[in-house]
Amino acid sequence: MLDIFCHTGRRHRGSQPIPGTSILINTDDMRERLLKLRDKLQTMVDTGDQASEVVELDQGRSGRLTRMDAMQAQAMAQAFGQRRQFMLRRVAAALERLENSDFGKCQSCEKSINPKRLEFDPTAVLCIECAEKAEH
Ligand SMILES: [Zn+2]
Repeated sequence: MLDIFCHTGRRHRGSQPIPGTSILINTDDMRERLLKLRDKLQTMVDTGDQASEVVELDQGRSGRLTRMDAMQAQAMAQAFGQRRQFMLRRVAAALERLENSDFGKCQSCEKSINPKRLEFDPTAVLCIECAEKAEH
């Protein structure tokens, strides 16, 4: 399970064990990823670029934008905007947890979150078991 962190060869620098386990997470890498993600999201929120993307897609498909298409595109852009705000809050919360050494701990059952899950989504706040429960 530790293999995914070993290939970087930097496992010991900036690493900290997940609370209650001996599993190490490279918090420097995680912080870097989260900061980059935050910048990207913030730029997208600032420029609202998704709106133009959606319109371009629709035009490519139909050749001409109908009123319905335009309304749909606007609704989609709004949904994307909300999703981004939501993601930004998640990223900010994850960075906060890194500072508080709370990172990698399930917010529900307080067990450690599988490092592979965190590698896939550094903003994950629930372990797989609790996330599955929350979905059902
Ligand atoms: Zn849990």
